[in-house]
Amino acid sequence: MDDISFVKEVLADKSKTVIAQTAPSVRVTVCEEFGSEPSSEETGRVVAALRKLGFDNVFDTDFGADVTVVEESAELVRRLREGGALPVFTSCCPGWTRFCVKAFPELNEHLSGVKSPQQIVGALTKTYFAEKTGKKAGEIFVVGVMPCYSKKLESREEETEIPGAKQDVDFILTTKDFAKLIKQEGIDYHSLEPDSFDELLGTASGASTLFAGTGGVMESVVRAAYYELMGGKELLPFVEDRRPGYGGTKEFTIEVGLEKPLRVAVVNGYDEARKMCERVLKEKKEGGRTIDFIEVLACRGGCVGGPGQPGNDPQQVAKRAFGLRDLDAENTRVRNAHQNPDVKKLYREFLGETGGEKAHKLLHRKGTQEILETLK
Ligand code: SF4
Repeated sequence: MDDISFVKEVLADKSKTVIAQTAPSVRVTVCEEFGSEPSSEETGRVVAALRKLGFDNVFDTDFGADVTVVEESAELVRRLREGGALPVFTSCCPGWTRFCVKAFPELNEHLSGVKSPQQIVGALTKTYFAEKTGKKAGEIFVVGVMPCYSKKLESREEETEIPGAKQDVDFILTTKDFAKLIKQEGIDYHSLEPDSFDELLGTASGASTLFAGTGGVMESVVRAAYYELMGGKELLPFVEDRRPGYGGTKEFTIEVGLEKPLRVAVVNGYDEARKMCERVLKEKKEGGRTIDFIEVLACRGGCVGGPGQPGNDPQQVAKRAFGLRDLDAENTRVRNAHQNPDVKKLYREFLGETGGEKAHKLLHRKGTQEILETLK
């Protein structure tokens, strides 16, 4: 049975609460399967399509991106202040983390331990949302609508610490799967009235949407780390373009009030990731370091160019990335993850301290061993 059939089956099971979460890149691209150009204005129609398909709740994976940023920036600041494996590599792209674990096991301690936004929304749905709504984790079924197949592997391979749950996320539909399901169910996509995400795990910052394009994770994490290191001062949006575009690497520095400026790299594509790993490994052996924080996204252009998207022509991928920039700029209510009132509420009411025991249990990966086991 394929993933679409599994999702149809669980949607028909009325004993389950079936929840969808959707990644930012999917929202600007699914309309391409219905003959439209990629656009930031499609989010409401995507939510409406998921409700029409029968999902009980629709959450925003961007909320998980904000939580990832809060945890990952805290991890970076802690390592900068107190010591620890540096540089830190981001861990939100399962294509990249699996490549790193397999090809460069000596660098595993440099991978951030924070789960990806998809896994975080799944874990919070089966704990925080479950507690708020009086449901059991085992009664909840989470479906991610995502840009790639690596997300399917990630959801199956990574262990959960939630009693009664088999996985944080149960099934993944790629953008193409999602469009196919809409067509199979006879839904007229263009006639859907735009709808909004459900609250609780539905309010996200503008920065979180940047996760789907190359350079976005770095920009989000650096905004939050800067705020912490500079005693509550906000970093102004970058003026110059610090994204490597369709494959490549960009490096730059930012003054953050420490002895040395923060040295950052944005790496896009497997070839560039390999080169960066070889460089970090060489510096590690020689006892030196020229970078502190490194974002890696495996697909050229980032998730907007993922293999589950409707094609990955470079010009089309660039148009999608502009759509995401619009989503960031349009979200004037909350621009940065650390300002998100719902994320603050989550920590206040449920998780406790950033990087604390509960946050660690639910939001951090157990280790790379489980990934290595599945790659054998
Ligand atoms: S960059 Fe590619 S492999 Fe990585 S999460 Fe995005 S779509 Fe998936």
